[in-house]
Amino acid sequence: MSLIVTGTIGIDSIYTPQGHAEGVLGGSCTYFAAAASFYGPVRLVAAVGGDWPDSHRAVLERFANVDRTGLEVRPASKTFAWGGKYLGGMNSRETLYTELGVLAEPPPKVPDRFKDSRTVFLANTHPAVQLELLEQFPGRTLAVADTMDLWIKTAREPLGALLKKVDGLVLNFDEAELLTGRANTVSAARRLLDLGPRFVVVKKGEHGCIMAHRDGLAAMPAYPVEEVVDPTGAGDSFAGGLMGHLAAAAGNDIGSFETVRRALAHGTVAASFTIEAFSLDGLARLTREELDARFRTFAEMMRLR
Ligand code: AMP
Repeated sequence: MSLIVTGTIGIDSIYTPQGHAEGVLGGSCTYFAAAASFYGPVRLVAAVGGDWPDSHRAVLERFANVDRTGLEVRPASKTFAWGGKYLGGMNSRETLYTELGVLAEPPPKVPDRFKDSRTVFLANTHPAVQLELLEQFPGRTLAVADTMDLWIKTAREPLGALLKKVDGLVLNFDEAELLTGRANTVSAARRLLDLGPRFVVVKKGEHGCIMAHRDGLAAMPAYPVEEVVDPTGAGDSFAGGLMGHLAAAAGNDIGSFETVRRALAHGTVAASFTIEAFSLDGLARLTREELDARFRTFAEMMRLR
């Protein structure tokens, strides 16, 4: 089923205890599209400025399943830029700067031939923009959104309106707590269900994730990675694996408890490759065979007799 993602393409500078990478390709829809592309075609809608490096375009082009028709270059504008620093065990991140650039301008245009998209992922960007983009896919069967602290703090109202219209929400535990005022994962996820979505996935980094669905509760550990180099994009890659699997899944109800529960494992495995290297390097060198092999290992690790 046609999968589309809208969100940011960023120029990132990242500092982790393992090293640093400056001016590298990042952004919420970039990681998503790269991860989802292992499962099938992905349509990407995003804007960049005239300063977007050719080397970043070249990285994105390596993911052959990503349709870049909706990639808008605005020569007089600046690309979204973001800097982040990780501390200690890589579980806490500090945003060093956020330069909105094209994000402060009108959203990118959705190409006409993308408007029949059925599976929609609204990666992180301003919730008002997410809402506006969502409305351009009238035939959608499943829409899932992500959000983060900046938008929870500055755009609560459009975020509330967005939650009423999406089927699923994927967010980090800190963000769920900020949004609901509840410090318990299950309680925060259940509160978010009350705000509209059919399912809410709360990610907890190396501690995995939990999903509250109107039809049940599920938990998934993280894939145990021995050397975490850069956790940036883990959340977006998780969403890419999850949605890529859902878009490829057979059946009429891809938002059902069982289907999404299985998809959590695909998201988990996709994210595990992203965090093993800076920027998109982990996904760029990945093959479908390696992805499938790690999925089998993960499934085996969780087998209960
Ligand atoms: P994640 O680590 O999954 O939260 O994703 C990090 C990516 O999101 C980075 O590559 C950034 O370029 C991008 N990013 C950071 N802050 C924002 C924001 N406020 N809105 C949208 N994208 C963002």
